[in-house]
Amino acid sequence: MSGIDRSGQCLCGAVSFAARGVRRDYGACHCGMCQHWTGTAFVAVSVPEADITWTGESLIRRYQSSSWAERAWCDRCGGHLWYRVTAEGPHKGNYEVPIGLFDDTSGFDLRGEIYVDMAPDSFAIAGEHTRMTAEEARRRFSYEESPS
Ligand SMILES: [Zn+2]
Ligand SMILES: [Zn+2]
Repeated sequence: MSGIDRSGQCLCGAVSFAARGVRRDYGACHCGMCQHWTGTAFVAVSVPEADITWTGESLIRRYQSSSWAERAWCDRCGGHLWYRVTAEGPHKGNYEVPIGLFDDTSGFDLRGEIYVDMAPDSFAIAGEHTRMTAEEARRRFSYEESPS
């Protein structure tokens, strides 16, 4: 499954990225940390470290949100840039880039949601895709919380 080259930027445009071979599939996470960070759910596309180049490094701020991952944002506009696993393991280094940052969001396909039992009441994403509870997600991934 080969992807396509895509680009994107933060709200103010000071931080941008170019990514190669981006996969079609994306995911959503409703865990407590993602809700506190985004305000709702974190909806993102996973891009391997080797396939993405960021511009605007001087404005990128990082927060180590857990012992296994960091979250980054633009210091000018506050826009989210990525969630990234820093702990050893199969997901280390991958950038989970919010789907809204992409210049063109056509051609993506929601593969699944995790921590669905933690989503606010009345908040649901329609369509046919995988839905994992917090317990199922914890069993699936090797971290105490989810990797995305
Ligand atoms: Zn910005
Ligand atoms: Zn999460």
